[in-house]
Amino acid sequence: MDVVVVGAGMSGLYALHRLRGAGLTVQVFEAGGDVGGTWYWNRYPGARVDVKSMEYNFSFDPDLEQDWEWTEKYPPQEQLRRYFDHVADRFDLRRDIQLKTRVIEAVYAEPAQRWLVRTDRGDEVTAQYVIMATGCLSAAKLPEVPGLERFTGRWYHTGHWPEEAVDFTGERVGVVGTGSSGVHVIPLIARQAAELTVFQRTPNFVIPANNHPIDPEHQRSVKSNYAQFRQANRESAFGTAFPLATKSALQVSDEERTAYFDQHWYGPDNHPAGLLVGYTDMITSREANDTVARYVRDRIAEIVDDPQVAATLQPVDHPFGTKRPCVGTDYYETYNLPHVNLVDLRKTPITEITPSGIRTSEQEHSLDAIVFATGFDAITGALSRIDIRGRGGLALTEKWAEGPRTYLGIAVAGFPNLFTVTGPGSPSVLSNMAVSIEQHIEWVADVIAALRERGAATFEATIEAEGAWTQHVADVSRMTLYPAADSYYLGANVPGKPRVFLPYAGGVGLYREKCDEVAANGYEGFTIA
Ligand code: FAD
Ligand code: NAP
Repeated sequence: MDVVVVGAGMSGLYALHRLRGAGLTVQVFEAGGDVGGTWYWNRYPGARVDVKSMEYNFSFDPDLEQDWEWTEKYPPQEQLRRYFDHVADRFDLRRDIQLKTRVIEAVYAEPAQRWLVRTDRGDEVTAQYVIMATGCLSAAKLPEVPGLERFTGRWYHTGHWPEEAVDFTGERVGVVGTGSSGVHVIPLIARQAAELTVFQRTPNFVIPANNHPIDPEHQRSVKSNYAQFRQANRESAFGTAFPLATKSALQVSDEERTAYFDQHWYGPDNHPAGLLVGYTDMITSREANDTVARYVRDRIAEIVDDPQVAATLQPVDHPFGTKRPCVGTDYYETYNLPHVNLVDLRKTPITEITPSGIRTSEQEHSLDAIVFATGFDAITGALSRIDIRGRGGLALTEKWAEGPRTYLGIAVAGFPNLFTVTGPGSPSVLSNMAVSIEQHIEWVADVIAALRERGAATFEATIEAEGAWTQHVADVSRMTLYPAADSYYLGANVPGKPRVFLPYAGGVGLYREKCDEVAANGYEGFTIA
């Protein structure tokens, strides 16, 4: 093949379409039973996107973006899955996608200047290029507590939810984890379960979704001007366009600030990013950030009846936005239900899973089912689960033993012609990923076209460019409050993972400019041979 693409989520589908359209032979391998990636795997009750539907979709085909009708502000997983199914069929992508096939190894053969890719089903394919479209949030993670194999009830991870419906009616259910997935699943399980116990390690900032059907007039208006709308997203900080802030949060009166926050809490078109980008210094000044953190804590205290439960739910250990703020529906309200209990794992940590439930340092909780909403080995996890070997047989995991080193988050010195879509060192999870994915795929397609035009065989980041970029990513993160949280952005949720800030915090717009500049300067920082 010319190209092997690993993964058939949003990234893999677009990579296939784009590169096949450029006349390349492309083979996609996907571990899942269908296309859609995140939206195939995360079928748990309540799963939905937290970027508005008009912004979280492909922009590459004007007919597609006009034809598809979104129905809600934040579409549910089923609708996104249907959307990616539709994309696969519309562009006849399925014939080049092998499902239920996990890539286990990718080795660069130096004399041939080709990659040899092996799968768990015995396939062996060579290709000039490999595109790792393996996803930032696809390597699901269970907690490191002993005993799960002895548990006699049913258990699930939100990121590997079964195809068949799961019914918790009348059961005692435990949910571990209160990140975005936990926040989605908890209110819906509470509607079914006889008793729900939430095991919380870190409280999060949860902003009301205020989800609603899309106003057809709004949809028409965006579609009538989609190109301009997309351009604004591409130039923005997070890939969703907001008016540029001009003032510090500390420059305005309390009343003005509260009115602004109210709009982004109660308003029908609110979004958590609105709370971050409204003032210039929310993510750089602790004092400014405290204003919004306090605001959210006050709302929690208003909603939750029991002051002790409210206090447990109030985030105090990290600034607002330094973990991805969650979007929820009836999240805090759920804790007012008499059959919902909250366990503070900071005070009483889980010690083991027993045959009949979860034991904390305080007591055993008897459960019929456990739901792990415990997240992912983010950004690098899916890559490190593949044996990737570059020049001289160097393993990527060895190269990244002290933390990932990339040039622009998409290329690695010593690993020619290998591309890591939304990889470490690119905006990835700090963005509307639809925007970041399209930008990466288009940039890679341009690289391959340029190489073909020159008759070149290899494209490889220089060690100097990689070093400078890796340093820049770290420097930019230090200008922000992000490192103040024990987040998956820093690998803090995976014991033993090097504590390195993984995404690029400089913003989607600036990052794109940098990538374009590199290309315009003849791919400076890369060796083309
Ligand atoms: P994925 O969708 O993760 O697809 C990667 C695919 O690669 C997977 O199907 C996986 O099975 C496959 N794969 C991995 N390793 C291998 C291997 N070795 N061999 C074969 N196949 C492999 N982003 C947003 O911007 N906004 C949101 O609101 C949002 N909501 C999210 C909600 C959830 C529950 C989760 C988990 C993530 C969310 N994200 C969101 C991030 C989301 O992952 C991206 O938006 C986007 O879907 C990523 O697409 P992708 O194709 O890069 O990766
Ligand atoms: P997450 O944000 O990493 O949350 C995992 C939760 O599990 C955290 O509360 C974490 O606590 C807890 N946890 C992890 N290990 C634990 C352990 N050993 N013991 C007890 N608790 C443990 O994962 P996620 O909720 O799946 O979300 C991941 C990302 O996916 C999100 O940030 C977002 O980018 C995306 N997502 C988006 C949406 C959406 O609204 N569109 C929905 C779901 C996911 P600590 O915080 O203490 O580590």
